Amino acid sequence: MENEKKLLEIKDLCVTYKTEDGTCYAVNNLNLEIGNQETLGFVGETGAGKTTTAMAIMGLIPTPPGKITNGSITFDGRDLIHISDKDRRKILGEEISMIFQDPMTSLNPTMRVADQIMEMIQLHKEISKKDAYEEACQLLELVGIKRERAADYPHQFSGGMKQRVVIAIALACRPKLIIADEPTTALDVTIQAQVMELIKELKEKFGTSMILITHDLGIVAEICDKVAIMYAGGVVEYAPVKEIYDKPSHPYTIGLFNSIPKLDTEEEWLEEIHGLPPEPTEKVEGCIFHPRCPKCMEICKKKQPGLVNISPTHSVRCFLYENANGEGDAK
Ligand code: SF4
Repeated sequence: MENEKKLLEIKDLCVTYKTEDGTCYAVNNLNLEIGNQETLGFVGETGAGKTTTAMAIMGLIPTPPGKITNGSITFDGRDLIHISDKDRRKILGEEISMIFQDPMTSLNPTMRVADQIMEMIQLHKEISKKDAYEEACQLLELVGIKRERAADYPHQFSGGMKQRVVIAIALACRPKLIIADEPTTALDVTIQAQVMELIKELKEKFGTSMILITHDLGIVAEICDKVAIMYAGGVVEYAPVKEIYDKPSHPYTIGLFNSIPKLDTEEEWLEEIHGLPPEPTEKVEGCIFHPRCPKCMEICKKKQPGLVNISPTHSVRCFLYENANGEGDAK
């Protein structure tokens, strides 16, 4: 996990929620980092902790019932957990912005799209209304929407176009980091690729770092530099994209790869990962993946594996590799 300059560093992050069924362990001892201009993919099933991690970065964990119980989140040298509300508001939008799955959760249906982009610009910048309007129009053009449509309301746009408006708002202040949470899942399949291509282009144009939350390994291969495979609230494998695709190592990652269709084989059935992830309120003894793991050993039922570096940039949380070099930092 070496990186010259870290933009975001998460250490030992734990997030819990109090529910009627007990404490839900949403994120458990999560460690991650992202450098300038890097794109990190968060991959995992629903409930793996991907969105909760994003919300923790944004300071949007509803407290109560949620709580960050341990760890640190450092962004560009600043502590994001203990920051004042005023400083957080300044960072959000200006330095970190988020693209949500459903554009309608981000857009105000009663405001014209240009006004929504202008609002973001004027919130963070001393600028005249006229100049803000011009910037908003330029941003619309940048995301492929004609400036003639600046006075339209969100309902006058298709799903893909609405998401383009959201992208324009996210880019309004040229943030250093964009968190994109399944940004194309709510869109028609035919336009998913176009929107993803736009995000990729703009990210490269502005040199923005990005966390891309997805369950689509194809998108990760195309866009991301590094990938964190998440399972039940923690990272089980972390590496540059090429290394994970060349050598998926954690049994869960291998299961994910086996469950996607391959064009070069004639297999009729895809392999599935048997069983279900644990309930978030359940404390699993030993390795959290052991009830589903085809390689489970006795030790896996009793002890938690630590993260093991199987190359300078590739780490895996699994006992299968722990004896290889005697490493491991069980947490
Ligand atoms: Fe499977 Fe054991 Fe590795 Fe967990 S530690 S993934 S149970 S082999």
